[in-house]
Amino acid sequence: IKSKLPKVGTTIFTVMSQLAAEHGAVNLGQGFPDFPVPQRLIDALARAMQAGHNQYAPMTGIPALRQAIADKTEACYGWRPDVDAEITVTSGATEAIFNAIHAVVRAGDEVIVLDPCYDCYEPAIELAGATAVHVALDPASFAPDWAAVQAAISPRTRMLIINSPHNPSGAMLGVADMQRLQAMLDGTDILLLSDEVYEHIVFDGARHESVLRYPALRQRAFVVSSFGKTYHCTGWKLGYCIAPPALSAEFRKVHQYNVFCSFNPAQHAFAEMIQAEPGHYQSLGAFYQDKRDQFRARLQGTRFRPLPVAGGYFQLVDYSAVSDLPDLEFARWLTVEHGVTGIPLSPFYATPPAGQRLLRLCFAKDERTLNLAIERLSKL
Ligand code: PMP
Ligand code: GLN
Repeated sequence: IKSKLPKVGTTIFTVMSQLAAEHGAVNLGQGFPDFPVPQRLIDALARAMQAGHNQYAPMTGIPALRQAIADKTEACYGWRPDVDAEITVTSGATEAIFNAIHAVVRAGDEVIVLDPCYDCYEPAIELAGATAVHVALDPASFAPDWAAVQAAISPRTRMLIINSPHNPSGAMLGVADMQRLQAMLDGTDILLLSDEVYEHIVFDGARHESVLRYPALRQRAFVVSSFGKTYHCTGWKLGYCIAPPALSAEFRKVHQYNVFCSFNPAQHAFAEMIQAEPGHYQSLGAFYQDKRDQFRARLQGTRFRPLPVAGGYFQLVDYSAVSDLPDLEFARWLTVEHGVTGIPLSPFYATPPAGQRLLRLCFAKDERTLNLAIERLSKL
């Protein structure tokens, strides 16, 4: 059969997790917490099932959860989306990203992505018959080069995808970036897809510059988030999309025939959890900052050089003092020979920078897991 996605293989996250399992390596690769989900959330999920919420949810998400999302959006970003017209609950951010692209991107269109970027964008763009136009982030700071983005805009550009806090680098967009973006898109009909799944994992007192804070940007945007990141339950696959009514209406046409609705019991559990612990969003940054700081401090005793991390739960390390292997080989070697698994960066690029020696390590892990990894890394 002639593949519609000839470039796609098994994702690097799956490949590395499998290799880690085969070799009993400490898995700091695929991004997921290895500590428990809050007990209150598990109890709420069990209660929702016992109460009989086991059939289809409303297509757009249960009202109580959309209400809770509107409340927390207003509390965090000072703007309240319309509960009925602007919020759609999805099966993870991945489904939301797929829907947003398919709702508005047509065959022959171009979508600008900033490399390195998360792996689910390009296949969705290609399935829509469109082309991903790759613009490199700055190789040292991972900040966007807005002049290069501007230069990549063509009459066929339909959408720009941004991601802050950024996977894999942990870089964040600042106010100046948002202003520049706003000026650049002004007067165009280019839509924005803003992947904000790590919106609440921000450090050092920084403020997450959500697109939702910027009226001129949010009127052309799909803003996507994920409960998996915020509540330590990546396997529950629940997220949402906030977009203006006309964009949400198109988004929902895809959602309706993609999954129709998302896992009903978890919607009840998150609605309850958000109401019960509104402070969770504010405390999550400190929780992960502590892990980041301890991990970075211990990395000082190794030959791996940690790069700055402003948000998210990934630490990039430069391994050039340890090895000159290209990153895919290095990641495999480190797993097989030294029992520590990370994610190489080259799969996040259309064209990986020559000679880049970086590995992504996930610090959303128990202290014991991180210590064991450091113990092994120290021997290199
Ligand atoms: N975007 C980014 C940047 C991510 O890191 C992830 C999680 N791996 C997703 C989207 C997908 O989120 P979800 O698991 O909710 O589908
Ligand atoms: N988002 C996770 C990461 O970046 C992986 C999710 C997946 O395995 N698809 O590690």
